Amino acid sequence: MPHVFVAGLVHETHTFLSERTGLDAFEHTLWLRGEAMLARCDGDASPMGGALEVATARGWQVYPSRYGAAMPSGTVTDDVLETWWDDVQQDLFAALTAGIDGILLILHGAMTFQGFADGEGEILRRIRRVLTDRLGDQEGVRFPIAADLDLHANFSFDMAEHATLFTSYRENPHTDAREAGIRAAQLLDRVISERLTPQVVAVKPPVLYSPKGTASAADPVLAFESMARRLELDHPELLEVCVLPGFSYADIPCAGVSFCATTVGDAQQARAWLEPLADEALARTTEGNPLDPPIDEVMPKAVRFGRGPIGIVEPSDNIGGGTPGDGTGILAAFLRYEVDNAVVVINDPAVAAACHEVSEGDRLQLSIGAKLGRFHGDPMALEVKLENLTDGRFTLENEKSHLASLVGRHVDMGPSAVVRHQGVRILLTTYKTPPMDLGQLRSQGIVPEDLHMVGIKAAVAHRAAYDPILAKTYYIDTPGLGSSDLRRFSFQNIPRPMAPLD
Ligand SMILES: [Zn+2]
Repeated sequence: MPHVFVAGLVHETHTFLSERTGLDAFEHTLWLRGEAMLARCDGDASPMGGALEVATARGWQVYPSRYGAAMPSGTVTDDVLETWWDDVQQDLFAALTAGIDGILLILHGAMTFQGFADGEGEILRRIRRVLTDRLGDQEGVRFPIAADLDLHANFSFDMAEHATLFTSYRENPHTDAREAGIRAAQLLDRVISERLTPQVVAVKPPVLYSPKGTASAADPVLAFESMARRLELDHPELLEVCVLPGFSYADIPCAGVSFCATTVGDAQQARAWLEPLADEALARTTEGNPLDPPIDEVMPKAVRFGRGPIGIVEPSDNIGGGTPGDGTGILAAFLRYEVDNAVVVINDPAVAAACHEVSEGDRLQLSIGAKLGRFHGDPMALEVKLENLTDGRFTLENEKSHLASLVGRHVDMGPSAVVRHQGVRILLTTYKTPPMDLGQLRSQGIVPEDLHMVGIKAAVAHRAAYDPILAKTYYIDTPGLGSSDLRRFSFQNIPRPMAPLD
């Protein structure tokens, strides 16, 4: 029976945002240790839930440590890393004393701390150092560490050096987070029981893809996925090939598209098999960076289209990509074009709190949105009618929603309010919540299927929820730090030349 140490830390870091992501953001979303982690994740569709399913089925003795996650946002403060590491190191010492056979980590791959640009590389380096200190160089270097990653990981050669095997989500929207966790645990189980010593190799073509270019149902990612699965079929020594189109709002040396493979064969050969993927990724730069049309080109078409629901998608305030979710671009457009029966969600804790001071049916004068930074439009001064007040909690309607990869099952938007101005209802939240599950609206008394237009702050991750109900989807270019046009960002720390910038 394998004895396995389990921990995790998950964050997608947008380094162009000026806000810092502190411990409070993790404590709000997910910050669990030991038995509490097992209780929370058991049976949910998160990668941890998937890994624990395998642990139970294979009869593992699990040593649960610290598991944390926060919504995508700005650079993570170093105290998050140090607090996590204090717990994990202490638990790891105890587990090594008791005797363990492997380590399983749930990570993202695009986490950046103030002091460590490559967050996961630093975590893996620290764990490997504990292993070599405790077990000696020879055994410590070979000791199995399996890690599961998000498809948006900015993979680094340090990560490849310090871990034993990687799995990653293959779908975007991430409806397969649980399956990726299952594969990580199954492969670790195999590595332990067959005493394998895999190596990880990677290739990093000099190209960034915007989030919109990383959808898995379309090329180029669809093509990469089929190339990767073919490699696994043709070469059984490859335990897993990861397609990682990366997270482009990260001004760090390891940003960009990557491919990695875990092999029990020859490492150089495995790297050579990945090269065609790297060449293809560079050749498809334009496809990986689709641009969005201006509002005033899109809105007249949307208004003329008639039948709803019509989704107006703004990647520039893509909450799942880290932006504040308080951009007013769509709200302004809906009002300017006098759209009726429309909904937008705006994260504005101060305004949500002001609504909770009064009663449903009251009229208020509010200044809504665009308060975090200067990149997401202007606050909108509106007289509104308060229609609904809630605690903002809801359970995922689709248990395999993209949100499950982050929070498991239950979502907490904090005190929330629905207000109306003319034909537009605005859902105001206290904690930004990406539009990845229809339960978000339904729990607030809004029937998404009955809307004429709905504003969606996302690039791709909304699609599993919204595509089935939308009559038509339009993307628009609004102000914001999630712009699909990467040439608008002033990168300083990535390798150059880098497509599509140079
Ligand atoms: Zn992702």
